[in-house]
Amino acid sequence: MKRKIINILMSLVLVASFFVVEHDPIIVANEKFKGKESEYLVKCAQRLNATQAAECAEFKTYYQSLGKAILTGSSDLKKEVESLKSNIEQLLVKSEQLTKEIESLKNQQVTINNNLKVTENNIKAIQNDIADLKLKIEKRKEDIKKRMRDSQLDVNGDRKFAFVLDASDFDDLLRRISVLEQIARYDEERILLLRQDQEKLLDEERELNRQKEELISQKNEVIEKEKQIAVLKDANQVLVNQYRTKQNEIEAKIREAESNYATIMANASKINTTATPESINQISDSNKTISGFGPVMRGSWYRSAGTWYYPASFGGGVHLGLDMAGREGVGQQLLAPANSIVLMTKSGCPDYGSLGNRCGAPISSAGNWVALMTELKGTTYVFLYFHLANRGITTKDFVAKGEVIGLQGSSGSSTGPHLHLEIIKVGDFPIQQGYQMFKDRGYDPALKAGWGLQTRCEVKSPPCRLRPESFYSS
Ligand SMILES: [Zn+2]
Repeated sequence: MKRKIINILMSLVLVASFFVVEHDPIIVANEKFKGKESEYLVKCAQRLNATQAAECAEFKTYYQSLGKAILTGSSDLKKEVESLKSNIEQLLVKSEQLTKEIESLKNQQVTINNNLKVTENNIKAIQNDIADLKLKIEKRKEDIKKRMRDSQLDVNGDRKFAFVLDASDFDDLLRRISVLEQIARYDEERILLLRQDQEKLLDEERELNRQKEELISQKNEVIEKEKQIAVLKDANQVLVNQYRTKQNEIEAKIREAESNYATIMANASKINTTATPESINQISDSNKTISGFGPVMRGSWYRSAGTWYYPASFGGGVHLGLDMAGREGVGQQLLAPANSIVLMTKSGCPDYGSLGNRCGAPISSAGNWVALMTELKGTTYVFLYFHLANRGITTKDFVAKGEVIGLQGSSGSSTGPHLHLEIIKVGDFPIQQGYQMFKDRGYDPALKAGWGLQTRCEVKSPPCRLRPESFYSS
């Protein structure tokens, strides 16, 4: 267990030194504390003389500055996280754009493929047309050949000759020859037209093939572009992952820093900075320099019941103290209001009692309790703290202002964690005399002031009861 604490302290020192800003004057001025934090935390938790108290006050300032440095470092880290988050955000937007681009490129590919199919079908159709034309041309050529063969035959078999010779007169002869020429010319023209058609179709086919090539090249371009964008998108994602990893690392550091800060602040609150008196005379002397009582409870609290009468919701009845419910519950620290003598303490009652629980003798029902005697401006007082937790009750004879004298509990006749505080005015004389009265009155922590309403200072001379509200309000 002890080992673990040392480890925690060591790591705190390391973390603290990590966040230390070099130009911080407090830290430069306190080189002597550096690396000795755990040593001083132990030292300053003990009874201090005036010199030690001054040194511990110095140490406390230094130690709290470590906490502040951690906070500063942590807020820098938070800024870094914010910037990472915004980078990630931007990258994600970019990723979305790239995804959309890829989708659009895929759509383009579908369109191009459709166009390709149409073009290929057109090419096929044209090729068919061309084939048809070729056949027609071939056929026409065959016809001509056949006719030429026939006319050849005619010549050989005198049929053309006969056709010509059959002419009735010269005019008729000329006409008949011209008919033969016209037939030949007609055939030539037909072939020429068919060839022109064929040329036109071949042109179209070339054009379609050119379009097809273009579509294929477009398609390849689009595929290439898609690949490039996919690479970009992957790179983007890698960056996002890297940023996220970094963000997690920094957030872990922030959590660590926050926990270290909380530890440092908790430790700092336990550093004593006032000298504990070693004699009644010292109490009397040192309290002359203070202007008023310090808090009797560290941290926040609210008044759950006031002095003299319990509220009706509590059933009414006489109430001789102020009930201060500390918001931290059992364990909240109770403090000495000034340098004081610890008159008496009572422990051994369970932390949680109940209504009507009698534990606390010789103050029945008070649970665990502490009685302090102190002096302020020539008047001696007794502070009674009731219903404390069973642990943490001071074992000292003298305590310093602000020193922890016990912890809030709910022992004795109590229904929830609170401090029941009573303040007894012992008399307008110094504490030495007050302490003598305590002894003379049989070591009664209430100085035989009694326990009824008639013990109020308003109706009775000291020792008598004051309203703690006149010193403490939440
Ligand atoms: Zn009470």
